Amino acid sequence: MKKIWILAACALLFFISGCKGNKIEKQVNQMVGTQVIAHRGYWKCEGSAQNSISSLRNAHKSGVYGSEFDVQITADSVLIVNHDNDFKGHIINLTRYEVIKDSLLPNGEKLPTLEEYLTAGKKLKGLQLVLELKPVKDNPALEQYAVEKCVEMVKEMKLEKRVDYISFSLEACKGFAALMPEASVAYLGGYYMPIELLEMGINGFDYHYNEVLMNRFWVDEARNYNMTSNIWTVNDSLLVETLLVGNPTYLTTDNPEEVTGQIEALKERVRKRLTGEE
Ligand code: MG
Repeated sequence: MKKIWILAACALLFFISGCKGNKIEKQVNQMVGTQVIAHRGYWKCEGSAQNSISSLRNAHKSGVYGSEFDVQITADSVLIVNHDNDFKGHIINLTRYEVIKDSLLPNGEKLPTLEEYLTAGKKLKGLQLVLELKPVKDNPALEQYAVEKCVEMVKEMKLEKRVDYISFSLEACKGFAALMPEASVAYLGGYYMPIELLEMGINGFDYHYNEVLMNRFWVDEARNYNMTSNIWTVNDSLLVETLLVGNPTYLTTDNPEEVTGQIEALKERVRKRLTGEE
């Protein structure tokens, strides 16, 4: 009988310490909740290139929250993944897809279409796909068509919950927010306060670090309005350390593994303080 009581007491102690551990872990994750987004994929790896499918796969392997990529529309309305508005001397918005479709990225991969990119991303479970639509210069109708086509493709591929939208075009952001009210949509261009974006239906900001350093209270303001805050492109470790103090939702970086390491180190410091080890 005595043995049973001892076993029961041990089980209770084990249960209590487990609950305490879970509570501390929850606190740690609340205090250091920032997640990492790989900028144009994780391309600083051997054999990869910005916005390539291999960079998307590398981002998945690194275990980050999301992988960002840039989307452009050709003159004949094919969505492709590329950062610059020109590719090998062709202005993408003024060029037919067939002219550039066989061109290669610096690592030898084919220039991906959005459909090819999303098809590859769909297989990478747990990785959020952060779609940046590039503004279409002097052609708002083509830009609006690009917004609709992106959403249509995401819906057809049943990726609604896996895709976040960002853009330097305020109109494109408004378009995404109107068509996908449940999705995360963030404006890249700076200047607007979180509340101003929210009034336009946009539920997040994704600003350059200088904009956030000058307006640090915007991260808290976004949190208070249940909006996301994302800061780009944060590659310097001191800058990462500085920005983590505000606990933004995301940091976008070309160095996803290093930034993840810094976040984990900060979590460990907080964990030690909470458990009294430090
Ligand atoms: Mg981008």
